[in-house]
Amino acid sequence: MKKELFDFLNTDLQFVKGVGPKVAARFADVVGGRRVLDFLLHRPSAVRPRTVTEYVADATPGVTVTIELLIKSVRPGRSFRGRRVPTQIVCADHAGAAVLIQFFNSNFLDYWLKKMPVGTWRIFSGKLERTGTRNIINHPEFIEEPENISKIPAIQVIYPAGEGLTQKTFTAVRDQIFAALPDRLAGVDENTCEFFDALRAIHFPTGADDLLPNATPMAKLAYYELLAHQSAIAISRRTRMDARNARPVRPQKYNLMEQFYSALPFALTGAQNRVLDEIFSDMSRSMPMMRLVQGDVGSGKTIVALAAAVWMAQRGGQTALLAPTDTLAQQHYAKLKPLCDKIGIVCDILTGRDKGALRREKLISLRSGRTRVVVGTHALFSDDVEYKDLGLVIIDEQHRFGVAQREALRSKGRHPDLLALSATPIPRTLSMTMYGDMDVSIINEKPAGRLPIKTSKIPMSRYGELVAHLAPQINAGAKVFWVCPLVEEGEESNMTAAASRHDDLSKHFSGVGLVHGQMDKKKRDEVMAKFADDDSDMRILVATTVIEVGIDVPRATIIVIENAERFGLAALHQLRGRVGRGNRQSYCILLFGRNLSDDGMRRLDVLCETDDGFAIAEQDLMMRGVGELMGTRQSGWIQYHFVDYRMHRDLFRLASRAAMEMPASDAWTRDLMYIFDRGDSISA
Ligand code: ADP
Ligand code: MG
Repeated sequence: MKKELFDFLNTDLQFVKGVGPKVAARFADVVGGRRVLDFLLHRPSAVRPRTVTEYVADATPGVTVTIELLIKSVRPGRSFRGRRVPTQIVCADHAGAAVLIQFFNSNFLDYWLKKMPVGTWRIFSGKLERTGTRNIINHPEFIEEPENISKIPAIQVIYPAGEGLTQKTFTAVRDQIFAALPDRLAGVDENTCEFFDALRAIHFPTGADDLLPNATPMAKLAYYELLAHQSAIAISRRTRMDARNARPVRPQKYNLMEQFYSALPFALTGAQNRVLDEIFSDMSRSMPMMRLVQGDVGSGKTIVALAAAVWMAQRGGQTALLAPTDTLAQQHYAKLKPLCDKIGIVCDILTGRDKGALRREKLISLRSGRTRVVVGTHALFSDDVEYKDLGLVIIDEQHRFGVAQREALRSKGRHPDLLALSATPIPRTLSMTMYGDMDVSIINEKPAGRLPIKTSKIPMSRYGELVAHLAPQINAGAKVFWVCPLVEEGEESNMTAAASRHDDLSKHFSGVGLVHGQMDKKKRDEVMAKFADDDSDMRILVATTVIEVGIDVPRATIIVIENAERFGLAALHQLRGRVGRGNRQSYCILLFGRNLSDDGMRRLDVLCETDDGFAIAEQDLMMRGVGELMGTRQSGWIQYHFVDYRMHRDLFRLASRAAMEMPASDAWTRDLMYIFDRGDSISA
C-alpha cells in the first residue's frame, strides 16, 4: 500500500501532463527537486482575491483584478531602436477607460490573439499596474468569454515561482497531483492521511489566513517537519556514540602536513589554524568526527578542508569531497589538484559527466586506494563507487544536502569522519536545534589584506549615472556581476528582463555576457567559465539568480544587484560575497525600484552597514516576516518548508523531546524522515 504512495511521490514531474523534461528542469531549480514530493513540499506564499471590478478606475494598482474589456486594437510586438516593444492589445472598460494588455513573451501569441478578436468583449484577469494614467495588465492569467466567467477562480494562490514558470503552470500541476492522490492514499494509516490532508489544505487555501504559521494545517506540517529533522539528528547522534573508527598512526618517513603548508601560496589565518586544530583533535579520536565549519563567504574554508584531507592521507585514508553542483566540483578540483600534485597525493574528480572507460578507470583507482582525494557531485555515492578506505567525507555547502545523502556517502566507509562546510552563518540561537548532532567551528576572520566591500544603495532612476560611473572602472580591468532578480510573481519575463538589460549594457560596453536559468546548463557553464577567465574580454556578466553560490572570480570587484529589495538578507549577503575575493577594493551596488517598503529599506541599510555574516543572519531572523517568502530558496538558510523560525519556537522544543523518546524503528517517523529529507536519489 505504502509503496504505491511512495512510488507516486517519487514520480518525476516530467511525467505530469503538460510538463515534460524542460519544464521539469525549471521545477527542479525552483522547488528544489523534480519529484511530485518536491512539488508538494513547495507551499504557496500568498492568497489574493481576484477582485471583480466593473470600472478600472475603481481598482487599486498592484492587485489582481478580473474585468470585462472591449478589444479595440492589436499591435504586435517588435524591436524599436534596439528595444523590445511588447505585443499590446488596447482595450476599454464599460466606462470607456483605456486598459492596455501586454505580452512580452511571444509563445502562444497566435493562440491568444485568436481568443480575442477586435470588437469583442472578453474577461481578463491579472495583476493591474498603473503608470501615470495608464492602466496595464501584463500577461493576464485568464482570458475568457463573458459567459465563462465562472472558469476564473475567485482567489489566486501564489507560489514562490521562478524563471520560466508561471502561476498557471503551478496550479495546473497542483490540480493533477491532488486529483491522483486519493487513489494512492487508499488503505494507508491515519497519520499519513492526516499529513496529506494538511498538505491539501495548504495547496488549496480558502483565504490568506490558511497560510499563516499558526493555522492548524501549517502548524501541523511544521511540527512533522521538525520531528523528522530532530529524529534524524537523534539517530545520527546515537549511532555516532557506538561507532569506532580509530586508525593506527603509521610511522612517518616524511611529514606530508609540513609539505602541504609550505606548498601554500599564503599563510593560514589564525582562525583557519584554530579550526584545523579542532579538526585534527577530532580526527585523532576513535569516535567519528561530525564537525560543521561555518565561515563567511571568502573566509577560506576550502583550504581548511584540503588540510583535513592531507591529514587523512597521511594516515592512509581516502577523502571524498561532495559539492552541490558540477561547476563547484570543477572549481574545487582546479584548486586542489595542483596542491595535491605538489605533495604527491593523487587527486581526482568524479561527476555525472564521467562515462565509459574513463569512469571505469577512475573507479578502479578509487577502489585500489591509489586516489586519495576525490572531488565530485552525488556521483560519489553511486552504487558502483567503492572506496578502499574512505576515512573522511567533506560536504561543501552542507545545507544543500539532506541527512540521507550525507549518510549515503558516509556508508561507503567504516564510520568515516565527517566535515561539513557552510557559508551560511546560522545564528547561535538556532544552531543547536539545527545541527544538534554536530560540533561547530567558526572561521571568523578573513585572510589578511581583504578590504571590506563598499556597499551602497541607489534608486533605479540613477541607472544612467551608474553606467557612466562604471565605464572607467571597467576600462581599468574590473569585472562586474550584474544580477537581475526574479520578476515578481514569476511571470515568464525573468529571462526577458535579463536579456534586455544585457542588450542595453551591450550598447555601452563590449564584452557583456548573459546567463539565465533557461539556458542549457552546458552553455551556462561555458559563459561563466569565460567570465572567470582572467584573459577573456568578457567584462560584465548579466545573470539571473542562477549564478552559483561559491563561484570564485577573484578579478570581479563590482556587483550590481537590481531590485535588491526583492531579495532576502541572506541571499544579498551571499551574492555580495561573489566580489571582494582578491586584494582589490570591491563594491556592491544595490539598485532599488520605486515600490521600496520600509522593511525593504531596512534590509538594504543592514547590508550597507555591515559585512559580518553572523550579524546579518541575526537581523534576518529578527526581520523575516510572515509573507516575506520571496526567494526563500535563494535565502541560503537551512531550508525548512513549513517551519517559521519566529513563530514555531515551541514546536522546536516539542519535536526535539519527542524525537529523543521515539524508538528509531518507529515506522511513521521513518516515513517522515524520508519525506522531509532533501535527498533525491534515495529509495523508500
Ligand atoms: P570560502 O570560504 O568562501 O569557500 P575559499 O576557500 O574559496 O572561500 O577562499 C576564498 C579565496 O581566498 C580563495 O581564492 C583562496 O585561495 C583564498 N585564501 C584562503 N585562505 C587564505 C589565506 N589564509 N590567505 C590568503 N588567501 C586565502
Ligand atoms: Mg566555498
